[in-house]
Amino acid sequence: ASSHNAPRESLGPRLVKGAMYTYVRPEPSEEPELLSVSPKAMEDLGLQTGEEKSADFRGLVAGNKIFWSEEEGGVYPWAQCYGGMLVLIMCSGSWAGQLGDGRAISLFELINPATGIRYELQLKGAGRTPYSRFADGKAVLRSSIREYVVSEALNALGIPTTRALSLTLLPHSKVLRERTEPGAIVARFAESWLRIGSFDILHSRNDRNLIRKLATFVAEDVFPGWESLPSVVRLPKDGGSTDDVNNPARGVKFSEIQGEAGQEENRFTRLYREIVRRNAKTVAAWQAYGFMNGVLNTDNTSIYGLSLDYGPFAFMDNFDPSYTPNHDDHFLRYSYKNQASIIWWNLVRLGESFGELIGAADKVDDETFIEKGVTEEFGKVLVERAETLIGRVGEEYKAVFFNEYKRLMGQRLGLLTSKESDFEKLFSDLLDTMENLELDYNRFFRRLSEIEIETIETEEQRLDVARTFFHHEGVSGIGNTEESAKKRIAEWIVAWRSRILEDWEGKSHENRQSMMKAVNPKFLPRSWILDEIIERMEKKGDREILDRVMTMALDPFKDNWGLDREEEERFCGDVPRYKRAMMCSCSS
Ligand code: AMP
Ligand code: MG
Ligand code: MG
Repeated sequence: ASSHNAPRESLGPRLVKGAMYTYVRPEPSEEPELLSVSPKAMEDLGLQTGEEKSADFRGLVAGNKIFWSEEEGGVYPWAQCYGGMLVLIMCSGSWAGQLGDGRAISLFELINPATGIRYELQLKGAGRTPYSRFADGKAVLRSSIREYVVSEALNALGIPTTRALSLTLLPHSKVLRERTEPGAIVARFAESWLRIGSFDILHSRNDRNLIRKLATFVAEDVFPGWESLPSVVRLPKDGGSTDDVNNPARGVKFSEIQGEAGQEENRFTRLYREIVRRNAKTVAAWQAYGFMNGVLNTDNTSIYGLSLDYGPFAFMDNFDPSYTPNHDDHFLRYSYKNQASIIWWNLVRLGESFGELIGAADKVDDETFIEKGVTEEFGKVLVERAETLIGRVGEEYKAVFFNEYKRLMGQRLGLLTSKESDFEKLFSDLLDTMENLELDYNRFFRRLSEIEIETIETEEQRLDVARTFFHHEGVSGIGNTEESAKKRIAEWIVAWRSRILEDWEGKSHENRQSMMKAVNPKFLPRSWILDEIIERMEKKGDREILDRVMTMALDPFKDNWGLDREEEERFCGDVPRYKRAMMCSCSS
């Protein structure tokens, strides 16, 4: 799907069979206004500062320019077709059918010459596509601001995500949601925009050949370097590492958990495991940083392990495992505590789509598979093998998730080593304490980073320090008094202090503090801040606030940014009491 030949006429909404995408042109817009460009995105795409001022750039990100003409050809834009499945209760799901992509149009792929990384540039909100169904293909300014900021913020935190290059206002477009709102386009980019839903739709149509083609495309084209891999790998007899057969340049490692010795593993299985592992790490990072996507259906789950499609997302304010940022999420399916299991549920759906492929090992080559097909009987054997395999990969998912979560939490707490007892004594106790006292999750870690070790030596000192973790209005949480709350935090500090003394013996605590600050952000684009930006941009025409917030989001670990000092402190300070744990509707 990476070569684009002759464009078609723009097609009306329809069900598309036997295809993964349709050529479609963005809708031209009048007097588009480029509101903001991410300098970090420019850099990562290999673009020069200043290029964003050119007419070409502005036309491109507003949907007014494409690199194709009748005479010269070029690349004609396209929209991807995919489906989606959502979990109803943890064991059963509902097939939503063909639903995407009704408002994202890909323009072309580009390679950053410095890094060699290839990205697919895409416009969200540039008008209808053949997959728009009943909808308008547009995006409102409100949700576009949110996607633009959070994409770049997550990336700055080191969390795998799709990216955002620019935000363009369409001043003449009136988009009807609950009310009429201004429209906008986010130019976004990613190594891949394929989702689990891209396979679901083929699975639902039992399109075996296209599943195999798409899986092969993902293996050979999306994950660079894989084409050089042998199609079947025999795991070493001693159960040792299989790293040598993978591509070291890409850092693709399958060694954390080995398959059974002597067992065969084909490239689809390795691909499936890699997708699983990437997603496990991404969810672990969400959990460690208190980020929630808000709508974790299969169409919003990336095959590249990226955080993807930002609707009613949020960063956690007070620590509350049951919190969901999605106003319509009555069953808390997408709540903080459910994210890891729901992503696994989605990954099982992918395993089912891969079914025959991962069950086949080396027994079926491309030719046999496609030309002759497999017998019904052998098909059953393959599916059974796939089920066993998915179960095994489930264990791998858990292990990768926990390892990554422990690594990130250890880092956030300033630890240099990892101990079995940390999980309970430090992590669990801390989270229980935070939940019970309704403390702000991310501010806690930043505050902890600032603590000098000499200021928590005595119980009296620790009780004093404990108070600095409270909200500005004082102690909260049912049944807690100031005394009991301080005592509880101070107790945890005792445990933390002794682990810090152990790990940092003979080392500089100044280094410890700066290491902690480098992983514990001072600034996060919380829901209330995004709301304030939206309000000020929509109602007051304030344009500068967005770039100030982007400056902070792109460099979230700093102490200050040399901007508006008072605003910086307000945005990094305690979340105003009535603006905590806000929820967001799905309309966008
Ligand atoms: P979302 O909940 O934003 O992930 O949307 C799910 C799917 O619905 C997307 O893949 C879009 O293709 C489609 N969609 C959402 N909003 C619109 C819209 N305004 N116009 C066309 N398609 C839309
Ligand atoms: Mg989506
Ligand atoms: Mg969305």
